[in-house]
Amino acid sequence: MSQPSDIIDLVCQSKSLPALPATAMEVLRLTQSDRASADELAEVISHDPSLTAKLLKMVNSPLFGVRREVSSVQQAVAMAGQRAVRVTALSVSLTDMVKAQREDGFDFVSYWRSSLTTAVAGRLLAQSTAADLVDEAFVAGLLSQIGRLAAHRAIPERYAEVIAHREANGGRLRDAEREILGVTGAGIGRALLQKWSLPNAICAAVGACQGEGLLELPEPQQRLARLVHAAVVTADLFCSEIAAGALDQVKSVVRSCAGLGETELEAILTELDAHVRQAAADLSLEIGATADYSEIREQAAMELAMLSVQAEAERTATVSRAAEAEAEARRLNEEKKHIIEVASTDALTQIPNRAAFEKRLDEMLAGARRGGEIVGLLMLDVDHFKRFNDTHGHQAGDEVLRSVAAALRSACRGSAFAARWGGEEFIAVGEFGSESAALALAEKVRRAIESESVAWDGQTLAVTASVGVAVCRPDESPADAEALVAAADARLYDAKRAGRNRVAPAAA
Ligand code: GH3
Ligand code: MG
Ligand code: MG
Repeated sequence: MSQPSDIIDLVCQSKSLPALPATAMEVLRLTQSDRASADELAEVISHDPSLTAKLLKMVNSPLFGVRREVSSVQQAVAMAGQRAVRVTALSVSLTDMVKAQREDGFDFVSYWRSSLTTAVAGRLLAQSTAADLVDEAFVAGLLSQIGRLAAHRAIPERYAEVIAHREANGGRLRDAEREILGVTGAGIGRALLQKWSLPNAICAAVGACQGEGLLELPEPQQRLARLVHAAVVTADLFCSEIAAGALDQVKSVVRSCAGLGETELEAILTELDAHVRQAAADLSLEIGATADYSEIREQAAMELAMLSVQAEAERTATVSRAAEAEAEARRLNEEKKHIIEVASTDALTQIPNRAAFEKRLDEMLAGARRGGEIVGLLMLDVDHFKRFNDTHGHQAGDEVLRSVAAALRSACRGSAFAARWGGEEFIAVGEFGSESAALALAEKVRRAIESESVAWDGQTLAVTASVGVAVCRPDESPADAEALVAAADARLYDAKRAGRNRVAPAAA
């Protein structure tokens, strides 16, 4: 990348830049010397009829605020002051110089719209807060973009890169300039105006018009530079370089830079567009469509409303995403619960299965030992079950199993955990205060099954079961689950041998 100073040299020394018109040079020479008389100035200007006509148009424009109609340069000097006439003549002749440039793809309409809006805004702001600077603010505003035009002329390919970069990335033109050229149009403009020997304060104000280096300027130059920066920011808003939504920020920058209050600023913004159009007519400049303050305010309100709608939409989306996530978590949780339930339930009888039982038995054995309770285990087998299958069919056998399971479950409710062990065998486990309490439950279960009548095919099937009980006392060496089941199973075998439909007491 080239150094910023190389770019500035390239632009300032370019042969493709226009030369300063002779009249402008003369006016400038007079500007430099304080001894130049009003007559001398009037004579120089009067030599250029087109300049004279435009100067008079400008001085008579409402923007100037001269009350009586001015019809000669001498009169203009008398009414508006020598300094105002000099600066205005300079603006007009520099404007003519730029206008004489050939059309080669440079967007002159935008250039003039933004330069002229800056000039007029600068003038109005100065009228309100620094009356001695109105003409300088106007001319500095008018020249605030000259560096861009010069760069476009002198280094067209590089400047095309700037435009392309900005189109691709959005953002402000000055940021694209800094990115690609290492220097902004304002920096180039200052160097060019210095080369043309414009007054230092104007060069400095153009250099700092984007706010860069503004605070480092010495106080007399800073006054003008602050006004011009405020004018540039205002023009950026009116020329859509800054989004209308930033209206409040723009106003606060302008108020603090130009040092004026809200009411004064509102008045300036309200009349700005009309003055810009008037100045464009006076200087015969084409500036395209402009925006007035009410449109900007409307646009700002719309942008802010859009932002709040967007924020609301984002908030709603976030809320509904959270609700969806919660519903999904709930659904997964339900699903998980359901899967666990299915995995731990016996499909035929809908009571817990063997896997669920073993898990519960382990928990109970661990807990009972800590709590000092007896764990009692009941093993139950339906008597002569095979006969139901053989006599009434497999489905009758299933119905008997369902009925036994229901009787077992309801008898155990609140005191033991009952499950199907497999085939026609069932099992239950609970914590009991004594061994006889476990035996009492076994007897209750046996009777419940005996008294359950199973209706099948118009008949009543009489069902009985035998029960073996085993217990594990807390003071015993810890029995494992398997040993406890085996002990109950051995008792069950005893009950069968003793004639069925009975409870075999726990082994001592
Ligand atoms: P005991 O009084 O000695 O226990 O005699 P039992 O007939 O009950 O014993 P056995 O072990 O001879 O017969 C059990 C039968 O249970 C054998 C098997 O076909 C049947 N069975 C096992 N599971 C099911 C089932 O889910 N449904 C049906 N209908 N029958 C089953
Ligand atoms: Mg059996
Ligand atoms: Mg049996």
